[in-house]
Amino acid sequence: MHIGLDDTDSTRKGCTTYVTALLVEELERLGVRFLDYPSLVRLNPNVPWKTRGNGALCLRIKHASGLEGKIKEVAIGLVEEHSDLAFRGTDPGIVFFQNETIPEEIKDFAKNAVTGIVTLKEATRLVTKFGGEALGFKSCRGIIGALAAVGGTLEEDYTYELIAYRVPENFGVKRKVDEASIFEMDRLTRPYTFNNVDSEKGRVVITPRGPDPILFGIRGETAETVQKAFGLVKPLEPVGRWLIFRSNQGTDAHLTRVAALNQVVPYSSVVAEGVVSREPRIVPLRHVVFSVKDATSEVDCAAYEPTGALRKVARTLMVGDRLEVYGAVRKPSAGRRLTINLEKIRVLTVAPRFMLENPVCPECGRRLESMGKGQGFRCKKCGKRFPDARKVRVAVKRELEPRLYVTSTRSQRHLTKPLRRYGLEKHGAEAEAMIENWHSP
Ligand code: ZN
Repeated sequence: MHIGLDDTDSTRKGCTTYVTALLVEELERLGVRFLDYPSLVRLNPNVPWKTRGNGALCLRIKHASGLEGKIKEVAIGLVEEHSDLAFRGTDPGIVFFQNETIPEEIKDFAKNAVTGIVTLKEATRLVTKFGGEALGFKSCRGIIGALAAVGGTLEEDYTYELIAYRVPENFGVKRKVDEASIFEMDRLTRPYTFNNVDSEKGRVVITPRGPDPILFGIRGETAETVQKAFGLVKPLEPVGRWLIFRSNQGTDAHLTRVAALNQVVPYSSVVAEGVVSREPRIVPLRHVVFSVKDATSEVDCAAYEPTGALRKVARTLMVGDRLEVYGAVRKPSAGRRLTINLEKIRVLTVAPRFMLENPVCPECGRRLESMGKGQGFRCKKCGKRFPDARKVRVAVKRELEPRLYVTSTRSQRHLTKPLRRYGLEKHGAEAEAMIENWHSP
């Protein structure tokens, strides 16, 4: 059985991964066998109605016949108990799916939920068509994510996250974790863990802020690595439970490569190639905006203040630089054109930059002095005059280097592949066998 869950949390309470952790414990008590780590599927971060972290979850289990009703009852009970149902915009959904293999149509639905827009109508049609069961609360929007988690089988690149949870008494109070141990953990496990610290600001990023039950989450390449890293972090408050998830986080799964700029559409996230057509300008709130174009169209690209390193690079771009831009597409609004909110820039070629300089004296090699606009030049050393000489064009070295630039760790989206992961991707890899201790209790 596959159990998909989504949208139980709100900005003030809860977390669907936490409900999943509780469900794992309950199901283990019922004697089910887990076929995979719980999957944590991050959906399109660019939809207007997204939940807080936009993560949906799925458990894949084998159970004794006759246990089906009990399993459903437990899952529904936990979602009801732990969802912030009174919160506007929290619309939980659960999907139960009995087939062992997931139909291609549901996998496609999941892919679309990560890269674009899918509808509740489509979700319920698929659930009905393939004999699944969907349960929604309030607007039922959570069914979309729940089905996407079921179909998100992570057969391409994937990563792991170990999430440690607080004890309920501590929900809402300041988190206590030894920060030095997190820096040390990062040093000892790199490059096999990622997004632990923001080295630009010297800040820890594995601990969320806010009232949710998460103490911290460690992301990495294998279950063994995140478990080892967990042992290196020193919590200064009790850890109530922990659980390892398999995920599409840090894989760039949300990005779609477009062949031309006229295919850049709102609500998607794209990789597009173009040439800088308008120099960077600083707009209010210290954002940097520039334009790129190709034969088909021209779009704006924005690097926001918190993107740090990326914003710095964006500022040095010049007309003629050839780039690949990565990011979420925002629809045009009053006074704003179609805009890509940048997550990455790959500089492909750097346009030459020229400056006009005074010519040098043909007699002594010293740089000539201007005698005034249109008056020609003279040599201060040998006193010769050159009334017909003109300024000469010389190439100036650009600081910009052709390579990939990524937004600062602190402003990376869950799905953004960090620099550290380049070269570690698992293309179409089978998931490894599960390690023995992947959750506690
Ligand atoms: Zn001279």
